[in-house]
Amino acid sequence: MTEELDFIPAARPLIGAEERAAVDAVLASGMLAGGPEVAAFEQEFASVLVDGRAAVAVNSGTAGLHLGLLAAGIGPGDEVVVPSFTFAATANSVALTGATPVFADIEPDHFCLDASAVEAVLTDRTAAILPVHLYGHPADMRSLGDLAEQRGLQLFEDAAQAHGATFGGAPVGSFGTFAMFSLYPTKNMTSGEGGMVTTGDPDVARRVRLLRNQGMERQYENEIVGFNARMTDVHAAIGRAQLRKVLGWTADRRRNAAFFDEHLQGVGTPHVAEGATHVYHQYTIRVPEDRDGLAAALREEYRIGTGVYYPIPNHRLPAFSRDIDLPETERAAREVLSLPVHPSLSAADLERIVEAVNRLVGAGA
Ligand SMILES: *Cc1c(COP(=O)(O)O)cnc(C)c1O
Repeated sequence: MTEELDFIPAARPLIGAEERAAVDAVLASGMLAGGPEVAAFEQEFASVLVDGRAAVAVNSGTAGLHLGLLAAGIGPGDEVVVPSFTFAATANSVALTGATPVFADIEPDHFCLDASAVEAVLTDRTAAILPVHLYGHPADMRSLGDLAEQRGLQLFEDAAQAHGATFGGAPVGSFGTFAMFSLYPTKNMTSGEGGMVTTGDPDVARRVRLLRNQGMERQYENEIVGFNARMTDVHAAIGRAQLRKVLGWTADRRRNAAFFDEHLQGVGTPHVAEGATHVYHQYTIRVPEDRDGLAAALREEYRIGTGVYYPIPNHRLPAFSRDIDLPETERAAREVLSLPVHPSLSAADLERIVEAVNRLVGAGA
C-alpha cells in the first residue's frame, strides 16, 4: 500500500513552458549577458513586489546581502545584530564585510528577531540591525524600526524567504536601508540562482550597481573596487516569467496553510502577527517531543518529505561559535518541522499530509 504512494517533496520549483520559451529567446538572441532582460526584470520586480523602490539584480541572494551591507557602509569595527536562527548566509554576509555579526534571540511566536533581545546586545559599536523575515513571516518591523531610530542604527532586511509578505500594509523590502530577496530554486520564486537588492536610497542603489560590476557604471571607467556579481540575461528571463506567477503561487501557499491551520491537531501551528501577511515560504510546526522521529515516520511510512530549518543555530556553527545563551533559538532548533506547503500540492496531497501528521502525533500521545 505504502509503496504505491507518490513521494511528496518538501519543495518543488515550478518551471513551465513560459520559462523555457523565455530562456530559448535569450539564447536565440545571442545576448546572454549585458542584454535587456536584467533591467526589465529589475523594473518589474520593483513594481510587483516593493512599491516601486529601486531594485538591483545580482547573481545570488548572498551576494545581494554582502553588496547591500558594503553599500550601506558596513565594515571592520562595526557590529551588526542578526538572528542566530536563520540560514548561515545572513551572518556570513556580515562577516565577509569585516564587521562582526552579533546574535540575538528570536521571539517564539514568529521565529523572527526579538526587539528586546536586540536591545540587550547593543554596544557603542553596533551599526545596524539585520532581521530575517523567516519562513515568509515578516519580522516586527515596528519595534525594530523604533529601536533603530532611537539608537541611530541602520535597519536592513533579509527578505530571502518573504517575496510579497507585508507588515502594517507595507511590503517587506520597503522598510530597511536595503533589503535582499533570494531567487534560489527552493524560494517562493526563482531565477535559477540570483538575488535582488531593493532600496529607497538612490546612493545605495548606485553603490550596489558599482559593486556588482567591478566598480564601473560606464565601461572601463572603474570608480571603486568591485566584484563580478552580475545576473545573466538567461537568469533574468527565468525570473521575469516567475514574477508573473508569484502572486498566484503565494495565494496557493496561503490556501494550503489555511487548510493545515484548520485540520492539524496536536501540533503547534504557525502564528501570524496582527497586521502581518505571511507568504508561507515554509509552513513550520512545533513538535515538542521527538521531532526527528516524526519526520522519519512521515518519510518512511507516509512518503512525505519535510525540512528542519535550521537544526544548528548559527552561534553554535564552527564559523561563529559563540558562548552565549539563546533559549528560544535553541528550543526552535529542537522543535521546528516544515511541512510541504508549495503550490503544486493537490487536494489529495494536503489531506494525506494532515492525516499522516494527526495519526502519528495522536499515536505518540
Ligand atoms: C536562501 C537564503 C539566503 C541566501 O540566498 P542565496 O540566493 O541562496 O544566496 C540568505 N538568507 C536566508 C534567510 C535564506 O533563506
